[in-house]
Amino acid sequence: MNVLVINCGSSSLKYQLINSDTEQVLAKGLCERIGIDGRLTYQKAGCDKEITEAPMPTHKEAIQMVLDALVNEKTGAIASLTEVNAVGHRILHGGEKFAGSFIINDEVIKAVEDCCDLGPLHNPANLIGINACMELMPNVPMVGVFDTAFHQTMPEKAYLYGLPYEYYEKYRIRKYGFHGTSHSFVSKRTAEFLELDLENSKIIVAHLGNGASISAVQDGKCVDTSMGLTPLEGLVMGTRSGDIDPAVMEYIAKKENLDMAGVMNVLNKKSGVYGLSGGLSSDFRDLEDAMNKGDKKAKNAIEVFSYRVAKYIGSYVAAMNGVDAIAFTAGIGENAPTVRKMVMSYLGYLGITLDEEANAKRGEEMVISTADSKVKVAVIPTNEELAICRETVALVK
Ligand code: AMP
Repeated sequence: MNVLVINCGSSSLKYQLINSDTEQVLAKGLCERIGIDGRLTYQKAGCDKEITEAPMPTHKEAIQMVLDALVNEKTGAIASLTEVNAVGHRILHGGEKFAGSFIINDEVIKAVEDCCDLGPLHNPANLIGINACMELMPNVPMVGVFDTAFHQTMPEKAYLYGLPYEYYEKYRIRKYGFHGTSHSFVSKRTAEFLELDLENSKIIVAHLGNGASISAVQDGKCVDTSMGLTPLEGLVMGTRSGDIDPAVMEYIAKKENLDMAGVMNVLNKKSGVYGLSGGLSSDFRDLEDAMNKGDKKAKNAIEVFSYRVAKYIGSYVAAMNGVDAIAFTAGIGENAPTVRKMVMSYLGYLGITLDEEANAKRGEEMVISTADSKVKVAVIPTNEELAICRETVALVK
């Protein structure tokens, strides 16, 4: 079966067409600048990327261009649209309504609409993508896969904030967590790769990308995670602050003469390692280069990032009363040995020792702890699109 995986942002759309039997990506790419002008990147497996500039006033035109590219006579990956057997949509916020993936129907759409308050930037874009696909492929089954769903197994003690309980009752203010597809995929794969019994294991997954989050997965279920009501909580990220004293917000507002939207903009877009490095970069490749040339702020940014990761790992060891394995994943987790080494330098008390030679590699599935390390540490590349494809097939078949 061929599954089209769609990940809609407010002005962008990423897609992959995956053959679920072989799990091969047949074609992939993205649409950018939707509603502004429009740019389609398309790449058939084994071929070069093609870039087409064309107007995309809405997501519907963008998806139409993707479908046209997929069936293009010369460069298409399939002969006709009948070869798209299902569509899997990544949806940011499922609130408390979705603890798993669902076949999309009117009821699911209504529930996703109800969650727009919680994910005001992403959910409306996700809905536009779903509606556009339903219009263009009316007979193809569609599945919604939620970023929050995997974390719905967290107990109350982990997801409740120390706020008046009525805010939870009235507004559902609580920790939800994100990157759930990745945490689910990587925790399962970690157990498989390290030959652990998932149902009887304690795994910490560090998803370290431009957005970064950690989860504690006990017996295959998420028991805690670092992101919260929104993806702003937790680790220091590319441009997001992560945890701060909430009183900082009022202080910045007064000192910088900003309203709440202005402060939120600072915390979401101007903070994290980007802010800490003095606006140098949010990309760890740039930060590592600068640090190696003696840039103090870049070094600080990497140290603050790694220290926060190590502290979260420590707190999740406490939450689970132990840990069997730690997995690093996503752009930084898979590709930045310096960060992994820095994080692991705090974990000696767990009996963890680093295999320096293995850790020097990038982007591979591998164990980076020594054979005698008390806790196994691995790099497990994430693959959110494949996870969405698998979820879709499981529901559609
Ligand atoms: P993601 O959000 O998972 O795509 O991760 C993107 C981030 O991964 C980039 O912003 C970089 O900070 C980081 N990254 C990617 N490749 C490398 C690399 N070779 N070395 C260090 N960091 C990397």
